[in-house]
Amino acid sequence: MSVRVRFCPSPTGSPHVGFARAALYNWAFARHAARNGEDATFVFRIEDTDKERSTQESYDAMLGAMRWLGLDWDEGPEVGGPYAPYRQSERTELYRDVLDKLAASSYTYDCFCRNEEVDARRKAAGSKVMGYDGFCRDLSAEQRAAFEAEGRSSVVRFRMPDGSVSWTDLVRGEVTFETENVPDFALCRANGDPLYTLVNPVDDALMRITHVLRGEDLLSSTPRQIPLHRALVDLGVSEAVPEFGHLPLIIGEGNKKLSKRDPQAHLFGYRDDGFLPEGLLNYLALLGWAIAADRDVFTLEEMVEAFDIRDVNPNPARFDLKKATAINASHMRMLSVEQITDRVLPFLKAAGVVGDPVHDADAQMLEQAMPLVAERINKLAEAPTMLDFLFVDEAAFTREPADVEKLLDDTGRDVVKAAHEAVAALDTWSTDAIQTALQTALVEERGLKPRVAFGPVRVAITGRRVSPPLFESMELLGRDRSLARLESAVG
Ligand code: GLU
Repeated sequence: MSVRVRFCPSPTGSPHVGFARAALYNWAFARHAARNGEDATFVFRIEDTDKERSTQESYDAMLGAMRWLGLDWDEGPEVGGPYAPYRQSERTELYRDVLDKLAASSYTYDCFCRNEEVDARRKAAGSKVMGYDGFCRDLSAEQRAAFEAEGRSSVVRFRMPDGSVSWTDLVRGEVTFETENVPDFALCRANGDPLYTLVNPVDDALMRITHVLRGEDLLSSTPRQIPLHRALVDLGVSEAVPEFGHLPLIIGEGNKKLSKRDPQAHLFGYRDDGFLPEGLLNYLALLGWAIAADRDVFTLEEMVEAFDIRDVNPNPARFDLKKATAINASHMRMLSVEQITDRVLPFLKAAGVVGDPVHDADAQMLEQAMPLVAERINKLAEAPTMLDFLFVDEAAFTREPADVEKLLDDTGRDVVKAAHEAVAALDTWSTDAIQTALQTALVEERGLKPRVAFGPVRVAITGRRVSPPLFESMELLGRDRSLARLESAVG
């Protein structure tokens, strides 16, 4: 059997997490089917029919997001395919052709009504149903001529069938809408420009999409799209009505739908914060799906192996940043130090911690320092602040004021003085020697608790309370710079 799924964002604004989850589920659905020997295709289509809201910037961001996530597409922009073009703005002729076919078979009709006329009629009839009332469905030739003579413009409306529309949703099971609540809808503007109501299902039909997997926010458009699909099958435009599956709503703070205005909703925020794409994808997968009852962390490969749209839970999924971060941290732990170094490098360059290209001395320092931080960071963007103290020019070295205030008070400065004395006398500058000297001078001789002893020294050396391990850091920093910092912290 052939399986064709699609991901079709509108390029309006910046990609959000709902976008990424829909892309992931469609991609995983196709890759899972392919693994089972099916002929499976993941189509990427750009729905830029709304010219006022679509932008090139957003189009580029959509492609960039897919590439960052590593969700590759078999057909679509920059890749091409048998149903090209994959940008709706380039498909206008195809839609006109379908509109003509629908009109020729009376699936549609011209409607001359003005909105206020429809409202007045609804009101007079005491009707609770909103939207179009079907007035122009069966105009006589005379009525039509009269409207035209008045110079009225018209839109094309789809004739909704009587009764109900039902489908077996792949996520939600049986769904039924009574069509008396689904008015005849417009397919194009008065100037002939096709509307989203037409182009989305028509593209699915023309591109031979077999499964439409998309957000629940689009559920209410499905009872309009299924009769339109049936008409297209009847006219020989397509072969079959696709199956539908509506993915659960994603909710944020206060049980409200995660809105585009919510900063947590923006995908690139995670990239810039240093989430690994595989960590974020793992978390997004959990917004409606689980690999097993007691397991949260898995690879994309494992997801592909196990993913079944029928296992998706229809209940709203809560977005939880803490959990997302924890899952990302688990994926960080799966990488080698070398892999983390490669991924951290762009962040270090952007923050100016290392130059671009990286000088030899910095490269050497990085090689020695990364094993100390790789285990301690949950996101890539935490690396620059952790490492900066090793790379910064001595003259430009600063300490975090809040940490200075807390730990380098009088008592703290006394501790740092004693630390300076203890290590200044060392013959060998090594982690072990430094540790023994500080342990003896501060903990054993002075009777300080390790936290009280090493906290001030850490702030003196690294500028922060949270840093890579202290003794190793001092060894890496070297004797001269370490002693100078211990001095400047008390001076
Ligand atoms: N273009 C629609 C959107 O970005 C997706 C429509 C669909 O998946 O059917 O919301």
